Amino acid sequence: MKEKNKIPAVFKEDLQKLLQSINEMEPIEKGERLCKVCSKVISLENIQLIIPRQANTFDFICDSPVCVEEYNRKKEIKK
Ligand SMILES: [Zn+2]
Repeated sequence: MKEKNKIPAVFKEDLQKLLQSINEMEPIEKGERLCKVCSKVISLENIQLIIPRQANTFDFICDSPVCVEEYNRKKEIKK
């Protein structure tokens, strides 16, 4: 069975390119983006998930296993 919800790990170099392409590189370098779950400041070191939202905004999840788990659980409930 395929795991549809599994989000692949993004390599740091790709991550920077990706962030630049969505204009989020600067806010993250300035510490303006917070983890959606624990409100920790998101940096290039601890960024784990980037979730596209409406109107070209994004939610970010830090690399804490708790946060990733929490986000995945919420996503399932919403469905
Ligand atoms: Zn977090």
